[in-house]
Parts: sequence; C-alpha cells; structure tokens
Amino acid sequence: MEHIVIIGNGISGVTAARHIRKLSDKKITIISAETDHFFSRTALMYIYMGHMKYEHTKPYEDYFWKKNNIELRRGFVKKVLPETKEIVFSEGDTMPFDTLIIAVGSKSNMFGWPGQDLKGVQGLYSFQDLEALEKYAPNNKICQRAVIVGGGLIGIELAEMLSTRKIPVTFLVREDSFWNGVLPQGESEMLNRHIRSHRIDLRLSSNLKEILSDENGQVRAVVVEETGEEIPCNVVGLTAGVSPNIDFLKDSGIALGRGVKVDRFLETNFKDIYAIGDCAEQHQPIGNRRPIEAVWYTGRMMGETVAQTICGNKSQYNPGHWFNSAKFFDIEYQTYGWVFSEKKDYEAHFHWKHEDDTKCITIAYHKESGVFLGINTFGIRMKHEVFDRWLTEKRSLDYIIEHLIEANFDPEFYTHFEKEILSAYNNQPVIA
Ligand SMILES: Cc1cc2nc3c(=O)[nH]c(=O)nc-3n(C[C@H](O)[C@H](O)[C@H](O)COP(=O)(O)OP(=O)(O)OC[C@H]3O[C@@H](n4cnc5c(N)ncnc54)[C@H](O)[C@@H]3O)c2cc1C
Repeated sequence: MEHIVIIGNGISGVTAARHIRKLSDKKITIISAETDHFFSRTALMYIYMGHMKYEHTKPYEDYFWKKNNIELRRGFVKKVLPETKEIVFSEGDTMPFDTLIIAVGSKSNMFGWPGQDLKGVQGLYSFQDLEALEKYAPNNKICQRAVIVGGGLIGIELAEMLSTRKIPVTFLVREDSFWNGVLPQGESEMLNRHIRSHRIDLRLSSNLKEILSDENGQVRAVVVEETGEEIPCNVVGLTAGVSPNIDFLKDSGIALGRGVKVDRFLETNFKDIYAIGDCAEQHQPIGNRRPIEAVWYTGRMMGETVAQTICGNKSQYNPGHWFNSAKFFDIEYQTYGWVFSEKKDYEAHFHWKHEDDTKCITIAYHKESGVFLGINTFGIRMKHEVFDRWLTEKRSLDYIIEHLIEANFDPEFYTHFEKEILSAYNNQPVIA
C-alpha cells in the first residue's frame, strides 16, 4: 500500500493527512519533533495568559488519529534521501516513503547576536518556547523585566503575554514606528501610542547589540546598539521574524531558496515530494502574493490542495485574495487585499481615524480608475466574504464607502461608524 509520510504535525501537515484520509485508504504517517498531537499554535499566548489549557488547544481528541488510521511518530528527521525514498531520524533509524510531504513550519530568526544562546533568551514559536517562558518568566519576582527584540505580530503578542503577569517590558523596535514596513504611517503611529498606553517601554529606532550573561549563564541585561545603554532584564524574547525550518534539508538535493521551492502544485524538484505551509516557497509568483506566507489559513489551503493532487485530482494552489488578522493588545486588526505602507505609484489611500485613537481604517484604491485595492481596519470588525467579493468584482472606492455597513461584523449594539466615515470621505480636502 502506498505510504505517505508527512514531516510536521502543524495545520498544514495535519490538514493534508485528514484530507488524504477522506479521499483514500493510503497508509499515512505524521512525524513531529515538537508534540505528540496537533495543537493550535495561534493559541500559545492564551495558555500563558491562563485563558486556556494546553488540552484545549488540540482541535482533535487524542483518539481521533487511531480511529482514522493515521499513525503518529514523535521524532526529529535529520535527513531526507530523495533517491532512495527514505527519511533518517536523529537516532539513525530510517523510514521508507512513496510520497513525502514536507510541512516543517518556521523557526524564530536569530541573527547571531552575542549572547543569543544564554538561558532566558528565546523566541516564541514552539511549545518548548512556551515551557521556557513559563520557567524564566513565571511572575514579576523571578522576571523583573523582559526585553523583546523585533516589532512584529509575535513581538506584540509576547508583550501582551508578559504584561498580563505584570512583568515590565522594554520593546526594542528597529523601525522608527511600529510595524511601519507593513502599515501606513497613520496606523503605525496609532499603535505606537496604544502600545505605550499599556505601559510598554517602546523604544523605536533601537537595535540589539548584545546580550550579557550572569555568572550562571543566564541573561542579566541587553545592550542597545544606538545608545550603548545597558537594560537589566531576566528574559529576552527574540521576535525579529521567522524563517522556514529547513536546515536539515541542506544536502538533500531538494531545491531550496529561503524555503523549499515548489511549483503551483506544491511539488518540489523531486516527483512525489511536496512542501506545504510556512516552509514552502513558490518559485513562480501568484499575483502579488509573497513567495512565502507564514499564516495559518494558507497552510490549511495548501494541505487541502496537496491532498487532492496526491489522491489523483491534480490541483493548483490558488490562495485567492490576501487577507490576514491579528490583535495589538485591545485593538483588533484585519486586512483584505493590499494596502502598502509605501504607496505604489498607482495607489492612493483614504484614511479615517476615530477621535478615541483606537479605531481607524485605510482604504487603498487605484489613483486613476478609483478601483478598490484593499482595506486595513483597526477596532472595527469586518466580514471577510464581503471584501473578498468586492475585490473580485473590482468595486470602486465610492461603492465601498457607501456600502461599508454591509461589511460590518461588530457584535450587536456596538456603535457604528459608517456615517462618520462617509462624512469624512465627503469632506476630504480636494487636492488639485
Ligand atoms: C505565537 C504565534 C502566533 C501566531 N498567530 C497567528 C495568527 O493569529 N494568525 C495566523 O494566520 N498565523 C499565526 N501564526 C502563524 C501560524 O501559526 C503558522 O503560519 C502555522 O502554524 C504554520 O503551520 P505549518 O503547518 O506550516 O507549520 P508548524 O505549525 O510550524 O508545524 C511544523 C511542525 O514540524 C515540526 N518539525 C520541523 N522540522 C522537523 C523535523 N526535521 N523533524 C520532525 N519534525 C519537525 C515542528 O516542530 C512543528 O511541530 C502565529 C505563529 C506564532 C508562533
């Protein structure tokens, strides 16, 4: 019987396994070095904050895998041998495969900072990272200050997590405004103020120079590159992005870029070897989407797509319009389509911000045609399917503003802002 081996039990690998099982009775083995069972990585923060227990983050009961005849193997794969169709575990034993799916996710970026391997220095990606945080930052007596390095979505989550245990946080952000490589300036500046309102010591235009050790090999301070300032701390969170976790594939012959290079069918340069999820890198661009997209739903889509192909219905990966969502302390963020921080030459923005400084929207549109290109929304929940449709229908900016209420997804009795947005739109200064 054909043996499908999947390395990685995250959302992409597990989705592939579930769909292959729905479509066939092939033998399936999922391997993971991290945990015995699939859990929701996006919920890691809620475990630390006490909203959930680890058990609650597992989307399937432990009996699910046996019942569905999906074998689970805990172990680290140190090598893939495409020619002989085998994988090699760190203990030296091997496993043959007919089809291999590489779904190994990401790892936290470490840029070779002096002291990055000290105790108390960590990323926030794996279950082991959560355990380390629990060990080194259980409360504000043991951890009197944490320093977070890298201002992105994971950094802000870590800042919120530590704040819930009243651990003072210094946040070193390389950019001169939070996440302004992604967000337009107005939104980014609103977030600077919001982060500071949560008593986070936000240091913009600040880089990490080195991490200093105490006599036990644990972090005692960091040094800031620009000022030379030494900031005493017991924990350092390194959250300067993630990259595909593919070091173990280096000498395998599988074509690698930053990730595992795949075609539109998610196949590598070897027949019967696929890569999906965070670790996959498209070598042909799909619209204006990025070649690597480290988000949950694209991993799920790739898992579904590859399952179809493996089960005889060859399918192209087609992610549709870009969307994403996140949370910055109390402010929810959603994005649909593309709103670039540095406007493209064809792009114009309409920006509205509420006076309470926690809600705003930015709509990007085509300068000449007025066609809607994308929206960022902060503090107002919007419906994905509505914006997805409007993007497909290439609606105009005027249409979006007039029909904004149709996209509103805030709970009942929430204040609505569409009228205010419309009025701001109608009263915009005319630029000659
Ligand atoms: C803190 C945090 C919050 C996030 N929040 C969001 C969010 O709100 N929304 C969103 O869209 N995305 C979010 N993400 C990103 C999202 O979680 C990832 O895109 C997604 O989990 C990636 O899934 P995956 O299946 O590609 O890989 P992973 O979930 O990383 O799974 C890969 C698995 O493979 C294992 N593995 C790797 N190499 C080997 C090997 N050689 N041998 C054996 N096993 C191996 C790994 O240990 C891991 O268990 C968040 C990520 C983090 C870290």
